[in-house]
Amino acid sequence: MKKGLEKTRKGITEKVDNVLKSYKKIDEELFEELEEILITADVGVNTTLKIIEDLKDKVRERKIEDPSEINNLLKEEITELLTDYETNNKLDLEPAPAILLVVGVNGVGKTTTIGKLAHRFKSEGKKVLVAAGDTFRAAAIEQLSEWCNRAGVDIIANKEGSDPAAVIFDAIQAAKARKADILICDTAGRLHNKKNLMNELNKIFRIVDREYSEATREVLLVLDATTGQNAIMQARTFKEACNITGLALTKLDGTAKGGVVLAVQSELKVPVKLVGVGEGIEDLQDFDPNNFVDALFS
Ligand code: GDP
Repeated sequence: MKKGLEKTRKGITEKVDNVLKSYKKIDEELFEELEEILITADVGVNTTLKIIEDLKDKVRERKIEDPSEINNLLKEEITELLTDYETNNKLDLEPAPAILLVVGVNGVGKTTTIGKLAHRFKSEGKKVLVAAGDTFRAAAIEQLSEWCNRAGVDIIANKEGSDPAAVIFDAIQAAKARKADILICDTAGRLHNKKNLMNELNKIFRIVDREYSEATREVLLVLDATTGQNAIMQARTFKEACNITGLALTKLDGTAKGGVVLAVQSELKVPVKLVGVGEGIEDLQDFDPNNFVDALFS
């Protein structure tokens, strides 16, 4: 988990350390500086305020006077935030057959994440099939085909402009015929209008319900960690449009604002399951809250 978190560690933990070192006693001003660091790191206003309030309570209850002890309190608080509700941070695609629907707006890293996942499952010895459900951009189909080539898995695609639900239908029949363990479905990433998005996704979900109800299902929303509050807004919209079971947060390596992990998970109550930490095929990690916190505070 260390890879990909260097910038965020600088953006949160190192700054917190420096602030704590500059104070001889714990006062309101210190908490204000901590608040600013968390907000700047995209932890989100609500989550930040909750963290600061909890820190103040703990300082009071435990009669803590030394500013340096706040570091451990913060680590404890972030761990609690990431683990305080019934959550399963592991992508759960057992038993086979399974279908993984991947949703998210264009540019967030959806294609790349699908490529990395296809490679991972294939390396685990699974039979993988990919459906090119984003039929609105020819480039999207081409790019996905390239990733599938690299991963060594088959892809089911139709022409640009064809009905995405029809591609998913075809892919499900192919997955059944070829006895695929996992079918990964790309979906269109246009978010210009919520009603369209809902209609498109509903159509796909109805096909899956009807044609592949026996399959274990996960719905993964891909979000770009570098977009901060925008990512949270996207998550809210998609959560209204379909039943998201997990999040993949990409480009964590490219931002000091990895605090967005806390914001999305604690405000939306959808578990982060994967994090993207680079552009390579291996640069995808399972998200483990404890490892995340350990890497952040190492
Ligand atoms: P899509 O439009 O959502 O399918 O996005 P793409 O998969 O094409 O990715 C958009 C850009 O983000 C590409 O240049 C990717 O290489 C890059 N990208 C995707 N995931 C990551 C990641 O985890 N880290 C970094 N640094 N770049 C990423």
